[in-house]
Amino acid sequence: MIRAVSRLPVVAAISISAVWMSAPTFSQDTARPASTVRAAAQPVDYFQFPLPSWAPHCLGFGSEWRYCDGTVLRRCSASGAIWLHTGVDITTGIQPVMAAANGVIIGYIVDPTFRGGILIRHDTPNGIVITQYWHVWPRAGYTVGTVVTRGEVFADIADMGSRTHFHFAVFIGDYEADAWRGALPPTRCDGFPAFPYRFVNPTDFVMSHWQPIPLPFRSHRQPMPFPFQRPISTRTKP
Ligand SMILES: [Zn+2]
Repeated sequence: MIRAVSRLPVVAAISISAVWMSAPTFSQDTARPASTVRAAAQPVDYFQFPLPSWAPHCLGFGSEWRYCDGTVLRRCSASGAIWLHTGVDITTGIQPVMAAANGVIIGYIVDPTFRGGILIRHDTPNGIVITQYWHVWPRAGYTVGTVVTRGEVFADIADMGSRTHFHFAVFIGDYEADAWRGALPPTRCDGFPAFPYRFVNPTDFVMSHWQPIPLPFRSHRQPMPFPFQRPISTRTKP
């Protein structure tokens, strides 16, 4: 099967990938792929969770950024304030990871501690949204510039031993370096914007962008005409 790939020039895609791959610290701000891939992805109306189950792990949206044993991951240098988690951590074993919506992979970086991070850019009726996936490895053939559709498996959970989990975040806006952050300070410090900046609660976001479930057919012989959904007020009781 041949997957659609965005019109992002090959050279640019390679250089962006190289830039992001070679600098696993969260300081990259030179890659600006957004405008060149805009035309490739199908517009997005609906989102879904990237895993088939969505059980919380140790950290939720806005939790202090700590390991499950309580060890603090990062503080502001001057105030000592503990950074806050920009995404939600999900309990999982090693399993496939799906795209939350139609979009284009715009970033892939590898961090020695957190393994692979991937960003997918979505063109929605309300503007650009970026979904962030951490602790994953992309599958073969999925790289910067690859177009994905909602529910398409593009990665697998990375093995982090007893710390294996999935991190998912939703960033409202087009690409900038801060779209990579797994946490942000509670108030601006060390050059980083204050939490939540452009991040929103990812579970709430997905739930509010879920595709409506069609109502069942009225009978087996006479399917209701398209569209299947009708206003609640016109439903008839069986
Ligand atoms: Zn996390």
